[in-house]
Amino acid sequence: MLVRFLSGPLLCGPLLACLSALVLLLSGGLPAWAEFSLPPLPYAAGALEPTIDARTMTIHHDRHHGSYVANLNAQIKAFPALADLSLDALQGQVSAYPEAVRNNGGGHWNHSQFWAVMAPAGRGGAPSRKLSAAINRDFGSLEAMQATFNQAAASRFGSGWAWLIRRPDGSLAITSTANQDNPLMDLPGLERGTPLLGLDVWEHAYYLNYQNRRPDYIKAWWSLLNWKEVDRRFAEAGGASA
Ligand code: MN
Repeated sequence: MLVRFLSGPLLCGPLLACLSALVLLLSGGLPAWAEFSLPPLPYAAGALEPTIDARTMTIHHDRHHGSYVANLNAQIKAFPALADLSLDALQGQVSAYPEAVRNNGGGHWNHSQFWAVMAPAGRGGAPSRKLSAAINRDFGSLEAMQATFNQAAASRFGSGWAWLIRRPDGSLAITSTANQDNPLMDLPGLERGTPLLGLDVWEHAYYLNYQNRRPDYIKAWWSLLNWKEVDRRFAEAGGASA
């Protein structure tokens, strides 16, 4: 362990993380790791059929999301300071850590929101009056917002996510990120804001049912949107004003 901490700055991340690790090491105490955990799906694995099949949901949640959580927890052992961060706060500090924290911390955050912004068809409600007003103000209409979002989701090359975000000034925007990045991360070239909804366009999210037909998956996905959760996120972020 000692060799690991002393073997070079690249392994060490922020100074505080290194120092706290070293202090724990030298004090001989065994730290109690606060681990991240895989949240259960908020509905049965088959509840989103036929749009998303149960097998895809089970593999996606249990194995893919489960791996991000396990790999993130492995990083806590190398960087104990991570254990003091909320999952939200961690996103804003990923640039200070190795890529495994960015990828797995992002994977955990992104998927946790993904399950929450979906609901069985017919159960997600509709956008609130306030959210509708903000969407109309910034995109012209709900349909126009969806068209812009669908374009961002379809044109993301390789793996990644499409997002509806609330900018710090209260305006709404569509963006997309590669791999497991998200708009909360402190990364160059990324438009930052509070994600209101994010769509997973990794092939693992749709391939069993849709194969290469990503646009069909994107279009069908809107029937699963949990607008109640999107509204909650919008209000929590401060609503339409700066
Ligand atoms: Mn995924």
